[in-house]
Amino acid sequence: MDDDNVLPCEDKIAFNSKKDALGAKALAKHRYGNSLVVYKCKYCLLWHLATDYNN
Ligand SMILES: [Zn+2]
Repeated sequence: MDDDNVLPCEDKIAFNSKKDALGAKALAKHRYGNSLVVYKCKYCLLWHLATDYNN
C-alpha cells in the first residue's frame, strides 16, 4: 500500500476557514434547502460540510 498520504476526507470539499465553510453552508441551504453542519477536520485541519441528520 502506498496510500499513506491519502486522507479519509480526500474526496470532500475543504475550506480554509470557518467563514468560507459557513458561506458555502448558507449557499447550500439557499439553493438546495440542505441543512449542513460545519466542522473542523482532524485529518486535514481544514473545514468541511456534513449532512446534519439531527435536523
Ligand atoms: Zn479533512
